[in-house]
Amino acid sequence: MPIPTLLRDTWAGALDLVFAPVCVGCREPVPTVDSRRIVCRLCWMKCRPLPVPRCARCWSPVDPHREPSPVCRTCDEWPAGVRAIRSAFAMGEVPRALVHALKYGGWSAAAEPMAARMAAMEWPRDTVDEARLVVPVPTSAARTRERGYNQAALLARGYAAKTGRVTREDVLARVRATATQTALHPGERRANVARAFAVPAGRAAELRGEHVILVDDVWTTGATALSCAEALVEAGTRAVSVATFARVVPELERS
Ligand SMILES: [Zn+2]
Ligand SMILES: [Zn+2]
Repeated sequence: MPIPTLLRDTWAGALDLVFAPVCVGCREPVPTVDSRRIVCRLCWMKCRPLPVPRCARCWSPVDPHREPSPVCRTCDEWPAGVRAIRSAFAMGEVPRALVHALKYGGWSAAAEPMAARMAAMEWPRDTVDEARLVVPVPTSAARTRERGYNQAALLARGYAAKTGRVTREDVLARVRATATQTALHPGERRANVARAFAVPAGRAAELRGEHVILVDDVWTTGATALSCAEALVEAGTRAVSVATFARVVPELERS
């Protein structure tokens, strides 16, 4: 005998209440209408892009009254090999919750929808045309063991799959342990990660002449990513573009 529709829907609704996955961002049950059921629509709606106008190269907020320039105060002293920096969202309540869940909460499934948002970012033409390899910011072996994965590598794999690129996790390594960056000032952060990364022996040939997209979860001062970019460029990488899920925007944090 067919089950009456109303009864079936009520049953499905009841099951949903009991077994519905909770949103990684707000920990409320995710309604069935949200296709992936990992992050709810409301949480995605609360995520904000980086403020405009932005520097064309690094996407830092720039003064709207100044002449457009290929670099800004933030990026004018960076190595020429650093081509472009992009972040899917400005750091805020929801991006912070997602990054935290992925990094410390063991919610590895969050990486896929986060990478999907990163894959929608726009790049300069040459990054789009040239970049073939996606490289995650390496974490220490101890931290990978502790978490079971490197969150940047999960984002890199998702990002590469969605943009038709190839992930390379063995071309960049952390060569010395660093203190956690959280409590450090910008100058201390740079010193803390200086020469912390290197291209392992025998891997440089694969990078020669390549334009690499380096992936990390968060851009705070850029110290870590720039240190990675330096190591890649030193090994012969022609250009490095950086993609992160979230970015700390000091102008927004202050307001
Ligand atoms: Zn939510
Ligand atoms: Zn800039």
